[in-house]
Amino acid sequence: MSVEYDLEIVALRKKYGGFTAVDDVSLRVGKGQFVCLLGPSGCGKTTTLRCVAGLEEPDEGDILIGGRNVTQDPPWERDIAMMFQDFALFPHMTVEKQVGFGLEMRKWPALKRDKRVAEVLKAFEIDRFANRKPGSLSGGQRQRVALARAMITEPRLLLLDEPIGALDYSLRETVMIELKTLQRRTGISFIWVTHDQNEAFSLGDLVVVMNHAKIEQQGTPEEILQRPRTPFVAGFVQGNNVFHGKVEDVRGAEARIGTASGSFVVPVLDLKPQPGQAASFSVRAERLRPAPPEGWPNRLATSCRTVEYFGSVRRYILERPDGEVMKLDQFGAEPAFLMAEGAAEIGWPTEAGVLHG
Ligand code: ATP
Repeated sequence: MSVEYDLEIVALRKKYGGFTAVDDVSLRVGKGQFVCLLGPSGCGKTTTLRCVAGLEEPDEGDILIGGRNVTQDPPWERDIAMMFQDFALFPHMTVEKQVGFGLEMRKWPALKRDKRVAEVLKAFEIDRFANRKPGSLSGGQRQRVALARAMITEPRLLLLDEPIGALDYSLRETVMIELKTLQRRTGISFIWVTHDQNEAFSLGDLVVVMNHAKIEQQGTPEEILQRPRTPFVAGFVQGNNVFHGKVEDVRGAEARIGTASGSFVVPVLDLKPQPGQAASFSVRAERLRPAPPEGWPNRLATSCRTVEYFGSVRRYILERPDGEVMKLDQFGAEPAFLMAEGAAEIGWPTEAGVLHG
């Protein structure tokens, strides 16, 4: 039988007393995918991961790993490995022992085990520390040990809970590149929990955005960035300007939305907005333009509060008529469009608006 999915989560629900931590979560992970569970603190990411690992018992729903229903199976029979933020290394064990631990538990003969451990130590570039204990290693080195220990048994799934959260900011990018390369090379599916959208968007083949125990949206990074489906996703993802209002009018492929800052035209996309309905839409900061050309229907008088510089991007922080803050990003230097603090008219082409729902 060919196995189509490394992981299937079907209608998962987990309660703690009267509190629902995971509510009707369903997810399919194809072979060798890199999946990021993204969301604010407390939204249920870790609980979902722990249910997949078998560390929590779901109240409802099923977990299938490699096509096999493992909902009732203990963690060690699930073809998974886990890595936690604190790495959970054994303090008294040398790196070599640590990395070989999973094989020892599986009762590999000593010679075969030593050979495999030596290969893995080399592959993870930790062979120099084989006889040291975790206490004398740096954060990055400890992380490589934890990964080597998790991956030596070649599990179908690697579950990672904020795996680089404890690393120095300067190390994170290097480690992310290493991990992604490793994931691609081994073909092991990664389920990576994070509240950091930069991690999720740069690593994930699939990004799953959670909020209040539910999945708000799942898709490729491009889909989530370019087409947020809910105001929560639009607001959570950096660089969006979100407007709330009511549908005033629908004409063909465009709808007019009335908001406290004025009324704006947005494409209806595949949605069916009805006049009078509550509606929200978003516009990415890089699609706004100062001094918009004549004829653009979406224009807005704002006041420019301040400018932030991020290397090649200039971000203008604007205040719109309803008092909310807006962000306008400019790449490179286009002196013709530079804004000064004070009144500024901005606008965007209709197709830049993304209607939610
Ligand atoms: P974080 O990023 O802060 O770890 P998270 O999205 O991973 O957040 P979870 O750890 O899954 O969130 O927790 C989801 C909710 O369930 C939280 O409100 C948490 O307080 C609650 N919760 C988690 N574990 C338990 C438990 N053992 N008993 C009671 N409530 C719990």
